[in-house]
Amino acid sequence: MYFCFMKKKDKDNKNNSALSVQKGIERPENINSESVKRFKKQKKTKKSSDEYFNEIINGNINYLSQAITLTESTLHEDKTISQEIINKCVSYSGKSIRIGFTGVPGVGKSSIIETLGLYLIEKGKKIAVLAIDPSGTRSKGSILGDKTRMEQLSIAKKAFIRPSPAAGFLGGVAAKTAESIILCEAAGFDVIFVETVGVGQSEIAVYSMTDFFLLLMLAGAGDELQGIKRGIMEMADAVVITKADGDNILKAKAAVTEYKNAIHLFPPSKSGNIIQVTTASAFSGDGIDELWKIIEEYIENTKNNGYFTQKRKEQLKFRMNETISEELKRRFYENPEIKKKLSELEAEVENGNISPYFAAKIILDEK
Ligand code: GDP
Repeated sequence: MYFCFMKKKDKDNKNNSALSVQKGIERPENINSESVKRFKKQKKTKKSSDEYFNEIINGNINYLSQAITLTESTLHEDKTISQEIINKCVSYSGKSIRIGFTGVPGVGKSSIIETLGLYLIEKGKKIAVLAIDPSGTRSKGSILGDKTRMEQLSIAKKAFIRPSPAAGFLGGVAAKTAESIILCEAAGFDVIFVETVGVGQSEIAVYSMTDFFLLLMLAGAGDELQGIKRGIMEMADAVVITKADGDNILKAKAAVTEYKNAIHLFPPSKSGNIIQVTTASAFSGDGIDELWKIIEEYIENTKNNGYFTQKRKEQLKFRMNETISEELKRRFYENPEIKKKLSELEAEVENGNISPYFAAKIILDEK
């Protein structure tokens, strides 16, 4: 009976039904034996690094996503091909503005990224959002976490959002994000946002791969520095007091004066710019235009005084040395002989037979 009623209602309101095809939502291709065969064939034939490269530089987002997935893989053959792709993409990279975002959870990082991202898309830019979260607290490597955080940006055509590589040690997670920057730039993204999740460990990693480092702060949140160490304040190129809307506007303005006074006492920045302090609201959009102007001005100044290029060169050297030391560590600890010797020496150290330093020297001197 109920069914009959539904059917009649459906007929009457054909266009209102959630089951009817809505404008703009294309019907997916039927799954028939032909498409299944094609899918199987696609899965079997591994793509070459040249194929990835050509598609990426043509802005193919599917290929970009897959190439990033390869960088995150632990399989040796995936790593080899991803290194080839990155190497090919390097000469096509470097043209974007890379902006780092940090601040305590809840300060409004994703909201500001979304509002600033949409603002830049309106200006004709293509935006990529990457994250570094070694603890895996937020997205747990799932794309859904970030998609629901930045609802509008995630459906924008000119935006690409990629969650943090799955949890792991910071060096590894950061290296993968740095590789993703190269791939995104080769795919034509002109502004890359790199976000830290939480405070404490990943700021330096984000700083080491961005041109402009933004520290987001809450107004009147009690603790003046909100658990943010002075060192991090000094690394910032701008401090943004977030949620400057409604009743919070006055508090935000007072916080600007407070931070300006504090920053005044800092040593001058190596970039030749003073740390800017401003307010912004992701909800009303107030301050977003000013924030972008601050960033643009900084980029222009540092390009003129040579700091921009110098910093990027330093970052490349840093990345190479980081990769070498991570790889040395990995090769060392994965060597079966070292593994065996290490467990023997650990027992000796535990029993107090030899000092930990002497044990370390023995194993490092091992040929
Ligand atoms: P994140 O953890 O730093 O990424 O912070 P979110 O962007 O997720 O924001 C944390 C909370 O603050 C959410 O409940 C937001 O709705 C709220 N929020 C973010 N931006 C603003 C803003 O500009 N104004 C106001 N009033 N609330 C905001």
